[in-house]
Amino acid sequence: MKINTKKLLMLPGPTIVPQEVLNAMALPVIGHRSKEFSEIFEDTVEKLKKVFKTKDDTFIITGSGTSAMDMAISNILERGDKVLNIITGNFGERFAKIVESYGGVSVKYEVEWGDLAEPEKVREILEENEDIKAVTVVHNETSTGAKNLIEEIGKVVKDFNTLYIVDTVSSLGGDYVDVDKFNIDICVTGSQKCLAAPPGLAGITVSDKAWEVIEKTNSVGFYLDLKAYKKYYDEKKQNPYTPAVNLIYALNVALDLILEEGIENRVKRHERLAKAVQEGVKAIGLELFAKERARSITVTSIKYPEGVDDKLREILNKKYNVVVAGGQKHLAGKIFRIGHMGVCGEKEILATLSCLELALKDLNFKIEESGVERAIEVLKL
Ligand SMILES: *Cc1c(COP(=O)(O)O)cnc(C)c1O
Repeated sequence: MKINTKKLLMLPGPTIVPQEVLNAMALPVIGHRSKEFSEIFEDTVEKLKKVFKTKDDTFIITGSGTSAMDMAISNILERGDKVLNIITGNFGERFAKIVESYGGVSVKYEVEWGDLAEPEKVREILEENEDIKAVTVVHNETSTGAKNLIEEIGKVVKDFNTLYIVDTVSSLGGDYVDVDKFNIDICVTGSQKCLAAPPGLAGITVSDKAWEVIEKTNSVGFYLDLKAYKKYYDEKKQNPYTPAVNLIYALNVALDLILEEGIENRVKRHERLAKAVQEGVKAIGLELFAKERARSITVTSIKYPEGVDDKLREILNKKYNVVVAGGQKHLAGKIFRIGHMGVCGEKEILATLSCLELALKDLNFKIEESGVERAIEVLKL
């Protein structure tokens, strides 16, 4: 096995993991039923609750972000139940697919990719459909670089007898999320994005209102049965099945770093870096994909200009050791995406912008103005 350690990881997940977080994984494996582990596990869950800003029951699952999305749906759904899926990109679509995979009926509110969902439109759909059991929305649509107004949508959903399920996989620990204030019943996240821990863990919160529904639901599924997770956690501060012990150590340290920086400071850092990247890219002469009113602060999506395609990403990676993401689904070959989430700082975004300029020059693209200079101006403000 060989890994190139020179790569600058600017993906919208997985993101750069600080060395102290990686080091935590080298501690010895301990028994997952030991008191010692229960204490570490409970401590990690408590820290995650602080980041979610919730008093609700919170669980850590061994699985990627999608496992928590799956869990959010499977535990509240019976065949034929209706769920309103707000779809602003690939991950919004994933929720609809999960609903349908369990025999549920997906009522879809689809928005043009790159834009956001209108809270008032959500109200209209809920008024027209009385029997909607839950509403799903993706906070930060990683596939398009656009984000939804989850606080405003939460205010709308609160007026209806339906659950509010929010995917904060690429926003928690980067953009502003407040589970209790936003009326979120089930909130899901993943370890490898803004939390800056390695891939492999997911988080999920469950409100009292959600528990009432879960207890009445004759759900299917075994590994992701929330009732089992609650029973084990309440009784033993453990999970029902063996968790990824060493990843829990890593997540614990990653959460310490977030709480030390302070969530508000962390969101401000993401806003500042996003602005520098976005202004820098525009100065170069490239066009942003996401609508201005919807623009994410954790990932920037950029349209390929005439005559430029995924070759740009290949040059960035092979020649300059900067790794960025391509487009998903119908956006493949049309956009590329720079992740600036987690522990990313000035040096990473300036290196990315300068190598982007070099790679564009290699492809004979005429740069309008220096993106690096523009980004520095923004950072100095
Ligand atoms: C990454 C991501 C997911 C989950 O992806 P996994 O590969 O299962 O971790 C879900 N939603 C969003 C918005 C994401 O960015």
